[in-house]
Amino acid sequence: MPRRTFRALVELEGMYRNMVEQLVLYAVNNGITKFTRLKAEKYREVRSLYSQLPSHYAYTACQDAAERAHSFLRLRKMGKARKAYPEVRGVSIWLDDHLWRAEGLTSISMATHRGRVRVSVELNKHYLRYVNRGWRLASEARVKLDHKERRLVFYLTFKKEVSEYRPKGYITVDVNEDAEAVLIDGIVYLFETNLSKVTLGYYYRRKRVQERYDRVYGPGSRPARRVFRRLSNNERLLKREVRWKLATLIVREAARRQAAIVLERLGKEPASHMIERIKNPQLRHRVFQAAFKGVQRAIEEKAREYGVPVVYVDPRNTSRVCPIHGAEIVYGRNRHGVCSKGGETWHRDVVACYNLLLRALGGDGGHAPSRLRVVVAVDGGPVPLGPTAAHELTPIARGAWARWRSLGATSEHKLMRMSA
Ligand SMILES: [Zn+2]
Repeated sequence: MPRRTFRALVELEGMYRNMVEQLVLYAVNNGITKFTRLKAEKYREVRSLYSQLPSHYAYTACQDAAERAHSFLRLRKMGKARKAYPEVRGVSIWLDDHLWRAEGLTSISMATHRGRVRVSVELNKHYLRYVNRGWRLASEARVKLDHKERRLVFYLTFKKEVSEYRPKGYITVDVNEDAEAVLIDGIVYLFETNLSKVTLGYYYRRKRVQERYDRVYGPGSRPARRVFRRLSNNERLLKREVRWKLATLIVREAARRQAAIVLERLGKEPASHMIERIKNPQLRHRVFQAAFKGVQRAIEEKAREYGVPVVYVDPRNTSRVCPIHGAEIVYGRNRHGVCSKGGETWHRDVVACYNLLLRALGGDGGHAPSRLRVVVAVDGGPVPLGPTAAHELTPIARGAWARWRSLGATSEHKLMRMSA
């Protein structure tokens, strides 16, 4: 931004910060967490403090302060507040529909104490994606001053009128450390992600680099740090790409079928039984984040963009019990097992996907009620799960799925070629 315009906004930020600081102090002292009460008691005072400012800043400062006071008082109640009073450190200025408006897609105008300021905007990909999906800008926004780059960063809210999304079916996703099994239209696809291999691979590479550089340059040298930075960046980008591509693929398929997505409800405790063998707690946490939490978050975010609902179910023992007979499955090697009642063979991930589906249909997210097993006809029922059917999955390597846009005609063609 031009220096002069930016200076006006720096002044504005200072006044806004002052108002928020005073309001937060008052709110915390009086136990106020509601905007309406704070505004009723203090609006006039802060308004007269900076009479040159458009009056709505006093209004949004009350909203901002009420929210800060609310979260501080809650933390204090839980004994987690580190200070006696909340510190107002980072300030983003809250704007309402009187204080800003978008002028087309190219500029934004903001009301300040020096009149309206017009700012030209640089849109990011994310913004355009939402606009193209029919989302519209909400009237509230926040703006943050980037003093170093002398620019403004706008935080916008999107809204959308949605018709009720009645899922016509479910797509269940069973996330593993190196692959995701996805049940779509009765077929379980296994998408290999190799996320834990990526994490572990980079970990050992960094370790080797460290040993080598420490020998030559001594510990914590600048060249070693440079290599570390590059490696970490590559790791991050690769993981992000894998997660987003897969999330997009799954959510698109769900949207096309008007289906909901079923995910396992993950606990906070990262000691998932699958990664227990990794002893280093930090490494275990990273594998968990990359392979489980991160993947889920990507799916959630994509699902929100497309308006696809996500259902969570209890993940306990999802691969232990036969979805048809309810009997235990005895596993041998290679993730294959045999049902102890029907004697049919199962792949572990196929079992998990079907059990997630049963739990979603049960609706309580708990263990599948037995009546549901009746719904799953043993021979050629609505769910294709006869004992004669191959309870197999279709594994797809990362290199193959990462290029697809959907599981439509082109992918079937590819699948055929792959199995040929
Ligand atoms: Zn069985």
